[in-house]
Amino acid sequence: MTDKYAVIGNPVAHSKSPPIHAEFARQTGQDISYDRLLAPLDAFEATVRKFFDEGGKGLNVTLPFKHEAWRFSEAQGMAIGANAVNALKFERDKSGRGKISGYNTDGIGLLRDLRGNLGCGLEGKRILLMGAGGASYGVMEPLIREQPERLIVVNRTLGKALSLAAHFRTVLGVAQQNISALAYAALGDAQFDIVINATSAGLSDAMPPLPAGVFGPDALAYDMVYGKMTPFLRFARAGGARIADGTGMLVEQAAESFYLWRGVRPDTAPVIELLRRQAQG
Ligand code: NAP
Repeated sequence: MTDKYAVIGNPVAHSKSPPIHAEFARQTGQDISYDRLLAPLDAFEATVRKFFDEGGKGLNVTLPFKHEAWRFSEAQGMAIGANAVNALKFERDKSGRGKISGYNTDGIGLLRDLRGNLGCGLEGKRILLMGAGGASYGVMEPLIREQPERLIVVNRTLGKALSLAAHFRTVLGVAQQNISALAYAALGDAQFDIVINATSAGLSDAMPPLPAGVFGPDALAYDMVYGKMTPFLRFARAGGARIADGTGMLVEQAAESFYLWRGVRPDTAPVIELLRRQAQG
């Protein structure tokens, strides 16, 4: 029997997850369907429960519900500290009791793209992370566990960056000199080996106020926004950095969800290549 999966969000029509999972299923011979599920803003949990009551096996969760999904699911692994869940798995035990487990695969998706696809190790590196929303919460723990020399978070609303850095220092017991938060204006002439844009600025062709000299020698600039040349990526290329958009992260986080649900790892490279070709039109 075909197992049902979907991505749930509001809005959700733009999501690229259905074609990605269709390609994974084709590759691996898994008998699944994967649709888009629009949840009313005030009825996320009810929509999830109905989907599972009707036989659904798993959901990816996108904006604006990742925190709400974390609140009502049984968070596992790195989702616990992330306060955000982007993959839900539904199981029943022998007595028929249902359990909804919550995972965060964004962080592992980013790491697989950085290390595996882009050949960029993080140990001993100076990392700048822009943004303090759900995406940043999702990637902080995996980044920290790679033992960078320093991880600085900058955000337009400084208070949110300070809270995020303090949260992960507490959760992971890391010292202030390794994880800190700053305002963009306080970056001065600091240089970084990896600059990650986890803001949504690129979606509206906006540019976070980064100083020009922020890229160290051989720096990598990574924008989580996918499928477009954002102002940040143009700025980074002009500053001599190597650039990458978030297509690889998108496909790698989907592959990790697929693995959690099906126990099979799809081949991500051809799917990344396909999305890149589609984005170029
Ligand atoms: P979010 O929770 O809404 O947070 C948005 C962040 O962007 C906030 O820190 C916000 O700063 C900042 N921001 C927005 N406009 C800005 C501007 N013009 N200048 C400077 N900062 C700005 O969103 P999210 O869930 O963290 O997602 C962020 C981005 O990552 C989205 O574009 C999403 O599509 C992308 N993403 C990609 C993947 C992938 O697989 N490739 C996965 C997850 C997320 P304030 O706090 O000051 O408002």
